[in-house]
Amino acid sequence: MSSGKSCECVRVVVRCRPFTRREERAECENILEADDRLGQITIRNPKAQPDEPLKVFTFDSVFGWKSKQSDIYDDAVRPLVDSVLQGFNGTIFAYGQTGTGKTFTMQGVSADPENRGVIPNSFQHIFTQISRSQNQKYLVRSSYLEIYQEDIRDLLCKDNNKKLELKENPDYGVYVKDLSSVVTKNATEIEHVMNIGNQSRTVGFTNMNERSSRSHAIFVVTVECSEVGPDGEDHIRVGKLNMVDLAGSERQSKTGAKGIRLKEAAKINLSLSALGNVISALVDGRSTHVPYRDSKLTRLLQDSLGGNAKTVMIATVGPSHKSFDESLATLRYASRAK
Ligand code: ADP
Ligand code: MG
Repeated sequence: MSSGKSCECVRVVVRCRPFTRREERAECENILEADDRLGQITIRNPKAQPDEPLKVFTFDSVFGWKSKQSDIYDDAVRPLVDSVLQGFNGTIFAYGQTGTGKTFTMQGVSADPENRGVIPNSFQHIFTQISRSQNQKYLVRSSYLEIYQEDIRDLLCKDNNKKLELKENPDYGVYVKDLSSVVTKNATEIEHVMNIGNQSRTVGFTNMNERSSRSHAIFVVTVECSEVGPDGEDHIRVGKLNMVDLAGSERQSKTGAKGIRLKEAAKINLSLSALGNVISALVDGRSTHVPYRDSKLTRLLQDSLGGNAKTVMIATVGPSHKSFDESLATLRYASRAK
């Protein structure tokens, strides 16, 4: 379904969420049509002139409002996590306006097995594969961090207001100095780590939703595998999986932001547009320069975007006519990444 020129290393999928109860009560009109067989989304401008054509976008996959968490995982995530287990790096992004299902897609509802999201499903997947392996030894480490206004914070550290620095080193490449890294032996342990980080995201902020819609949360799982080769020597391969719940993509100017808020908005938009530029340079393939250095987010993920790494962008949209502008902007951003 992907066009011939698009590079193999980036997959872009779109997920439409169902109407919320509030939207149902307000009798919002549905402006999205998802055709999962063709991988197409059609969006209708609620204020269109009678002869205005509908806008159609094509992606690697699309998921309509009835899609299940397992549909997303099996189609978009499972192959990427398999390649991490084989020693490659990979990154999964959730991109979209606040309220369209980024966190639902990435985290889901832990207590409900049907509704667990990408992150807990990847834990299950990784540890199931490890338990089936016979001649390999594995070490699984995780880190959880947040980028808020170009500042990096460790979500697994008690002093989580400390700003961490990005460093570069010829052996390790780009890394976050002093970032915690926790070794876990099974899915329950790593899920516990995730929950601790999630709690830390909310501490000290009166309006959790507001903060989470303005920061990027990155859960990093590093899988190290050692195996004795035919030469009798230990061979080690390391794969890294980054799972990113991005800041809301809504244009901040519309919300009447002023002063500090406006500066903050500019920084959020900067990292999202830097990410868009990196991905479209990778997809284009002809660009000699990939602008990783333009934001903390893209610098940090440099070794997991492009090259041998796999990237999946899950763009999320809501169905209501009231979010036409934002949904169209999300579909445009996502199709540029394709
Ligand atoms: P975001 O993280 O993008 O701001 P959320 O994940 O918090 O959005 O989703 C907003 C609301 O919509 C939540 O109540 C969530 O449970 C619900 N929701 C989002 N996506 C879906 C979906 N695919 N199916 C059912 N409910 C969803
Ligand atoms: Mg969210």
